[in-house]
Amino acid sequence: TNIGSQKDRVVSEEEWLQKWEMGNIGFHKEQGHLLLQKYLDVLLNGRSGLRIFFPLCGKAVEMKWLADMGHSVVGVEISEQALKDFFAEHGLPYCEEPVPEISGAKRLQSTSGNISLYCCSIYDLSSSIVGKFDGVWDRGALVAVNPRDRQRYVSLMMTLMEKNSSYLLVTVSYDPNKHKGPPFYVPESEIKSLFG
Ligand code: SAH
Repeated sequence: TNIGSQKDRVVSEEEWLQKWEMGNIGFHKEQGHLLLQKYLDVLLNGRSGLRIFFPLCGKAVEMKWLADMGHSVVGVEISEQALKDFFAEHGLPYCEEPVPEISGAKRLQSTSGNISLYCCSIYDLSSSIVGKFDGVWDRGALVAVNPRDRQRYVSLMMTLMEKNSSYLLVTVSYDPNKHKGPPFYVPESEIKSLFG
């Protein structure tokens, strides 16, 4: 089946950067994701002033939503264009600085200070650099990770979570023999074995 062939498929960082350059970003949701609205209470669990992590964040508008609710948002994304578009499209001033621990990486931070976006590969991050999080919004992230890197990705995510953090994960259920994406099919059984 195609699940078998997907296992070996790789989308390179270069290909992602090209998608951004070409405006080939059908995954971006201008209006934000209904499932975050629906499950917001699960994510927050009555808490306020949380640190929320957006892995493989693109220019997700949900980052603005959560920041506006008083949470502090950290994202990571390899495309600098995506991050600059994010700030520009929301009219948010930001400043840019190198990340001493990661060569070539940049951190773009809203002037108000509550949105901090790392321009580098997620695999360059660690809790000593970004700290730990009370909540995670994983939409278009695990499903975009190359299948061979899934375990590494999930192990890293575990190290970035506080004890009582909530992790909202969006995946898409479809017949991988009929559809090629979104990028990779992650069956529920695999999610259970990855996260334990
Ligand atoms: N979560 C976003 C974007 C999903 S598309 C949303 O909901 O809209 C996946 C994104 O991951 C792309 O923007 C791509 O550039 C980025 N990406 C791919 N590999 C990455 C990596 N190793 N580290 C950080 N970002 C990566």
